[in-house]
Amino acid sequence: MRVAFGLFQHEANSFCPQPTNLAGFQRHYYKAGAELLETTRGIATEDAGALAVLCSQPDIEVVPLLGVKAGSGAAIERDTYQSLRDDLLRRLEAAMPVDGLLLVLHGAMMAEGEDDASGDILAAARQLLGEGMPIVVSLDLHANVTCRMAKMATALVGYHTAPHIDLYETGQRAAEILVDTLHGKIQPQMALCRLPLIVPAENARHTDGPLADIINRALELELRGEILHGGVYPVQPWLDAPDVGCSVVVVTDKDAARAHSYALEMGSAFWQRRTDFIPELVTPAAAIAKALDGEARTVILCDSSDAPSSGATGDSSSLLHALLASEINAEVLTNVVDAPAVERACQAGVDAEIEVDLGGSLAPQYYQPVRFRGIVKSLHNGVFRFKGQGMRGVTMRMGRTAVLERGSLRVVVMEHGVTQWDPELYRSLGLEPKDARIVQVKSPAAFRAAYADIADEIILLDTPGAASPKLTSLAWQRLSRPIYPLDDLEHTPMAE
Ligand SMILES: [Zn+2]
Repeated sequence: MRVAFGLFQHEANSFCPQPTNLAGFQRHYYKAGAELLETTRGIATEDAGALAVLCSQPDIEVVPLLGVKAGSGAAIERDTYQSLRDDLLRRLEAAMPVDGLLLVLHGAMMAEGEDDASGDILAAARQLLGEGMPIVVSLDLHANVTCRMAKMATALVGYHTAPHIDLYETGQRAAEILVDTLHGKIQPQMALCRLPLIVPAENARHTDGPLADIINRALELELRGEILHGGVYPVQPWLDAPDVGCSVVVVTDKDAARAHSYALEMGSAFWQRRTDFIPELVTPAAAIAKALDGEARTVILCDSSDAPSSGATGDSSSLLHALLASEINAEVLTNVVDAPAVERACQAGVDAEIEVDLGGSLAPQYYQPVRFRGIVKSLHNGVFRFKGQGMRGVTMRMGRTAVLERGSLRVVVMEHGVTQWDPELYRSLGLEPKDARIVQVKSPAAFRAAYADIADEIILLDTPGAASPKLTSLAWQRLSRPIYPLDDLEHTPMAE
């Protein structure tokens, strides 16, 4: 049997001022044809997990199509999206006849003129392959699962974790469901329960809190063999489009009524816990004082509003302003995206003293630059690999990177924003977070896995940005209303 395999991942953030273009995909991940099957060993991603299962089947030939990923950001530019989408579909058409398709998507991808880009790709693939052909899709936990996506796919399979540490296993599970379907062992039936609800990511974790209870229920049903998969999706909330909301997807073997009933049960539980997702936030000045006063050795200041992994620009100066206004003798590690400042540091060279403006170069609507005088401590190429559980083995590229030093404060200044789930961001530059009193991390929740043995305390910052957890503070224009927490509403969950 022939199984076509493709990957197209992007997570949109409508409040990010930087468009997602072709260069963003090329810098992140861009593989065509047979290249997709190379170098997945030791890498903890969905494609690696899915390929491990598919390639181990003696009767299955994997036909690689196209694999592209960009970092989170604004909607993909129209021409870039069209050319990547058309390339993927052209390759699928050329690969036919096939017996099934496995697609690795994120599920919260938007393009200019196409709010539901995942659904668009699935609908086009379905049209090519026909009604009965199995199409199984792996999704991020923050997918915006639309009715079109559920209608066009045979099965949607999402992460069970936040922090995301089961990417590989999700890819494996998606491939197993596809293989079992192809072998006639199962006949997937899927139900979707969508909610008029968006939630910030800080409290949406599988380890504890409101989301954990619902995910645990899905896991219990899977373990008992009642369902093939239960996906609980606290949607990427910064999608300013009409058709957005948290959801639950249940996949069963043959039993549509059971899928419907469990989707409704877990959707109702999700809705009942909605107020528990709102996090408590602390101003930067108060957080610094708390970090210095307390007994904790290393305090993580979680600056999630500026998280590049959530689609923010990474050029926030909010914490830096507060740090420079404070008298601090303790070690502090902080970071900012600022390409012009990196250029100045490179020109000046190591050990030179420079004075630069830091921050606000990409998102001036959120951030004012701060004047910084310090020493260029070191210069780097900004390439590092994740070593923690989430995305282990994946390479990140910050571009040219400078470490600037002023007293006990060290500022990592990089050309490009990267996912900040892993302390390797600092360690690759010779900086040890464990030795610092205050460490700035721009990630809402996913950093908790790799920082678990470093963080004695975590404080959530109240700062502005494209990924602000204060969802009511953002300038929504297109989101369908009413929706919680923007509106207080009565709602009875329904499953489709
Ligand atoms: Zn996610």
